[in-house]
Amino acid sequence: MSGTLYLCATPIGNLEDITLRVVHTLKSVDLIAAEDTRNTRKLLNHYDIHTPMTSYHEHNKYEKADEIIRTALLQGRDVACVSDAGTPAISDPGEVLAAKCIEQGIRVTSLPGACALITALTMSGMPARRFCFEGFLPPREDKRERTRVLERLSEEERTTIFYEAPHKLRATLKELYAAAGERKITICRELTKKYEEAVPMMLSEAVSFYDEHDPRGEYVLVIAGRDPEEKKARDRARWQRMSVEEHMAYYENQGVPHKEAMKKVAADRGVSKREIYSALLSQ
Ligand code: SAM
Repeated sequence: MSGTLYLCATPIGNLEDITLRVVHTLKSVDLIAAEDTRNTRKLLNHYDIHTPMTSYHEHNKYEKADEIIRTALLQGRDVACVSDAGTPAISDPGEVLAAKCIEQGIRVTSLPGACALITALTMSGMPARRFCFEGFLPPREDKRERTRVLERLSEEERTTIFYEAPHKLRATLKELYAAAGERKITICRELTKKYEEAVPMMLSEAVSFYDEHDPRGEYVLVIAGRDPEEKKARDRARWQRMSVEEHMAYYENQGVPHKEAMKKVAADRGVSKREIYSALLSQ
């Protein structure tokens, strides 16, 4: 029988944000795979935990995951995986270990607890019934993927959450503003820590604010979704700038058959198909 992988959520700042079950599990497993062993050592000392630790991080995640599976889990030993902070697998290497265990039929379970994105979303007061988590933007070198995410944001109607490092915040805010236009944003900083903040502002204000202030600490950005009414009004204005003929050509140039294009044009302009037909005849 193989062991179990326990994904254990640990505090994102305040050391008291840990569950009794996580403390108990960290004491009882055979090994802890920790993203930052120095940081986790402080947590283990605080809770008087003496379980052996191994270092498992972004730069060794593939080989080390295989090693942990081969030398511990497949030998029947239980392993806890902990991130630098928060919930393993959320924008961190826990994702790889969990996926590899599942591939090999090893039991994986997740012990819930602190997570920066959920903390930020809930305290932002933005709609949380449906939301979208983007994690960190793709690196600048991956220009295509970064542009794709930013383009998606411009149409996204759900609240969207990003993680960002302080030294990249200024440039990222400018890009988000260029992509999404004016939107509400809540800038969450140093969550659960002494200088915790969740500051609601408009994206343009955020850009100006950080042009004048140095970003410090850890950040989560919660951005309001595009207002669907505003999108409808924008689309309506766009169609109204076109003649019926141009509007038809817009669809037909994309390969939409004539009859189907008439239906679409009528729907876009909020009129009947008969009106479109007459308008085309009178051209
Ligand atoms: N697994 C973690 C989680 O559950 O949230 C996230 C790990 S990711 C590598 C680290 C990023 O999370 C930081 O760059 C920051 O954007 C966000 N973060 C983590 N702790 C935070 C805190 N206390 N306040 C604000 N953001 C935080």
